[in-house]
Amino acid sequence: MKKSRIIVLGAGFGGLELTTVLSEALGDKVDVTLIDKNEAFVFGFSKLDVMFGRATPDAVRLSYRDFMKAGVCFRQETIGAIDPTALRVTTDGGTYEADVLVVALGADYDMDATPGLADGGNEFYSVAGAERVRELLPTFTKGRAIIGVCGAPFKCPPAPSEAALLLHDYLTARGVRGDCEISFVIPFGSPVPPSPDTSRALVAAFAERDIKFVPGRRVRSLDLARRVAVLDDGSEMPYELFLGVPKHRAPEVVLASGMAESGYVPVKSATLETRFPGVYALGDVATVGVPKAGVFAEGQAHIVAASLIARLTGGESAEAYDGRGSCFVEFGAGRVGRIDVDFFSGPKPTGTLQGPSAALVADKELFGSSRRARWFGR
Ligand SMILES: Cc1cc2nc3c(=O)[nH]c(=O)nc-3n(C[C@H](O)[C@H](O)[C@H](O)COP(=O)(O)OP(=O)(O)OC[C@H]3O[C@@H](n4cnc5c(N)ncnc54)[C@H](O)[C@@H]3O)c2cc1C
Repeated sequence: MKKSRIIVLGAGFGGLELTTVLSEALGDKVDVTLIDKNEAFVFGFSKLDVMFGRATPDAVRLSYRDFMKAGVCFRQETIGAIDPTALRVTTDGGTYEADVLVVALGADYDMDATPGLADGGNEFYSVAGAERVRELLPTFTKGRAIIGVCGAPFKCPPAPSEAALLLHDYLTARGVRGDCEISFVIPFGSPVPPSPDTSRALVAAFAERDIKFVPGRRVRSLDLARRVAVLDDGSEMPYELFLGVPKHRAPEVVLASGMAESGYVPVKSATLETRFPGVYALGDVATVGVPKAGVFAEGQAHIVAASLIARLTGGESAEAYDGRGSCFVEFGAGRVGRIDVDFFSGPKPTGTLQGPSAALVADKELFGSSRRARWFGR
C-alpha cells in the first residue's frame, strides 16, 4: 500500500517537534519530508547569548545532519512556491506532491518597513544580526542606547525586555554603565501584557537599573544622519547605539501562495487546519491567537501530530489546542523568571510568574538542552 506523504515546510520549533512525534508514533509507516533552507537550527534565545558574547555562533548552531528520525527525510532546499489547492511545493531542488502539507515557516523580518533599520539599525533578532551586534558592543563605551521595537506582533514578547536588562549587565561588567543611558521602546502598554505580575517585576527591574521604559510607542524610522529614532507619535529619541526588533511578516513564499490574510495564515485555533483541505499551518506563520514563541509552536505541533496519527490509523483526534505554555525570562544578574500562560481557557489570557530566581536558571537550561537532545541527539 502506498504510504501517505506528509510534507512539513520549515524545520524550526514547530517542524522539528511535529516530525519527531510522527517518527516516534509511526516510524517508517509514513513518508515524511521536512524541508528547510538552512543548514542548522538555532534557538531564539541563543541570539541573546551570541549578542552578549555568552556563546559563540558555532556553539549555538545545531546541524540538521544530526536530525535523524525514522521515516523522516530532511532536505536542505529553499521553498519557492506553495500551491495549497494542489498540495504541491516547488523548491530549488524539485517539486513535491503531498497528501498532507504542514506550513511551519515561521515569521520573517520586514526590514524595509522601518526606514534606516537595514543600514544602521542593528537588528538582533536574526543570527547574522546578533553576530554583528556582538562585534559592535565592545565599541560602545558611552552615550545613549535604545532597544527599540519596530512593530507588533513580534517573536517572544519578553525578549526585548531581556535584551535591555542584559545590556545593563554587559555595560556594568565592562565598567562603563555610568557613562551610558539605556532606553527601551515597546508598542505594548506593558512589557508582557498577558502577565501583569511579570510586567510589574520587569518595570521594577528597569527602574532599579535606571533603564528608561517607553511603553505604547513603536519605532517608525531611524534618521541615520542625525542618529535619531523617530517614534510613531513623531517624537524623537537621539542615540549612539540602536538595537532593533524589526517588524515581522510571514515569509514571502507564504504571502505569494494566497494562504495569508492580514499578513499571516488564518487557522482554526483548536485544530490548526487552514481553509485548504489537507493543509495545516502552525507556529509563528499562523494566526492562532497566541504570541509568537517556540513553546506555542511546539504545543501546536502536538495537536497536528495527534490529528495526523489519528487520520493515518483510522480514527479521529479529540485533542484541541489549549493555548498554554511556559516561557523563561532573563532578569539579568543571574536570575530567571518563568511565566505560565493560558490563552484560551478563561475569558481573558492569564500569566503567572515564578521567580525571578537563581534556581530557575537551571530550568531554562533544561528547556534548551532537553530539546537539543530530543531533536538532535546532542
Ligand atoms: C531573541 C529571541 C529570543 C527568543 N526566546 C524564546 C524563548 O525563550 N522561548 C520561546 O519559546 N521562544 C523564543 N523565541 C521565539 C522562537 O524562536 C520562535 O517563536 C519559534 O522559533 C517559532 O517556531 P516556528 O516553528 O513557528 O518557526 P521557526 O522556528 O522560525 O522556523 C521556521 C523555519 O522555516 C524556514 N524557512 C522560512 N522560509 C523558508 C523557505 N522559503 N524555504 C525553506 N525554509 C524556509 C526557516 O529557515 C526556519 O528554520 C525567541 C525569539 C527571538 C528572536
